[in-house]
Amino acid sequence: MSKGTSISNFFTRDKPLFSLEFFPPKNEAGGEKMLKAAAALKPHNPDFVSITYGAGGGTRKTTMHYAKILKNEFGFEVMPHLTCVGHTKTELLTILEDFAQEGFCNIMALRGDPPKGEDEFRPIEGGLSYATELVSLIRKNFSHFGIGVGGYPEKHPESPSKKDDLLHLKEKVDAGADFITTQLFFDNQVYFKFLEDCGKANIEIPVLPGLLPVQSIGQVQRFCKMCEASLPTELQNKLEDVEKDNQPAVGADWAKEQVKELVKEGAPGFHLYALNQSEASLQILEWLKK
Ligand SMILES: Cc1cc2nc3c(=O)[nH]c(=O)nc-3n(C[C@H](O)[C@H](O)[C@H](O)COP(=O)(O)OP(=O)(O)OC[C@H]3O[C@@H](n4cnc5c(N)ncnc54)[C@H](O)[C@@H]3O)c2cc1C
Repeated sequence: MSKGTSISNFFTRDKPLFSLEFFPPKNEAGGEKMLKAAAALKPHNPDFVSITYGAGGGTRKTTMHYAKILKNEFGFEVMPHLTCVGHTKTELLTILEDFAQEGFCNIMALRGDPPKGEDEFRPIEGGLSYATELVSLIRKNFSHFGIGVGGYPEKHPESPSKKDDLLHLKEKVDAGADFITTQLFFDNQVYFKFLEDCGKANIEIPVLPGLLPVQSIGQVQRFCKMCEASLPTELQNKLEDVEKDNQPAVGADWAKEQVKELVKEGAPGFHLYALNQSEASLQILEWLKK
């Protein structure tokens, strides 16, 4: 069992980091696809990869299963995500202990979305209400863990205002978060403004921009609706102007331009929502090598 590195260390180097996000596949075919993507992306040596944690009981096993493969067979620094959905505090501690036992030392600490069919997040009895509480729980019991939290440049959909959202983000930082990964955005100005606002709110930990290489107009419209991110008209027009088969290339190109500007302007790196596919991320990474 290898001991990993706290991701917070990567932010102190003088080169931008890059990371990739996978999700736990639903079945064996999905698993093969994900591992194929991981193999294709491996030569680019991401600084870390993360694997999401979905709602429902099955995810606990699946996230752990694939997190272990990504760590032990591919040698990635892996940051499993963990959400408060459906877990008591005691269960969360057991899951964290399991991750620690397996040699993971970074966790993305999230509240999670309401389970399917529910429109509001309600903590279960003995459970946690906000990500801040999960961050505190981790800090208190697993002090060596690196902790990432989510940040919302265009505001979390449930939040009444950007100001409120930033206040709660600051609470996560004060509870012990090491870095923030942002929700996806397609206009870099949104990220730069968020950084400015974070600065004013005395949020001083690194803010890693999260980018989605768009696969199709339908996908991006769905995602933007779900997380209330704005879709620039220029990107929408570019996607609509090409055949469906060519839309992934447009998405990769857009993300490439985002990376170029973000890195130039001093972002600490970038996080690609690879969504278990390698093609678009590869295009971006190949281009960056040039
Ligand atoms: C980088 C990233 C990765 C993600 N990975 C996953 C994943 O793996 N699995 C998954 O299910 N979801 C994931 N999500 C989605 C996330 O779970 C949802 O956006 C969820 O609705 C909020 O989670 P959070 O951790 O940001 O919650 P919180 O930080 O707890 O915030 C939730 C809402 O509550 C508000 N709030 C916080 N504290 C308080 C308080 N004390 N009083 C009143 N209001 C408060 C916030 O402003 C916000 O509106 C991810 C999101 C991001 C940005």
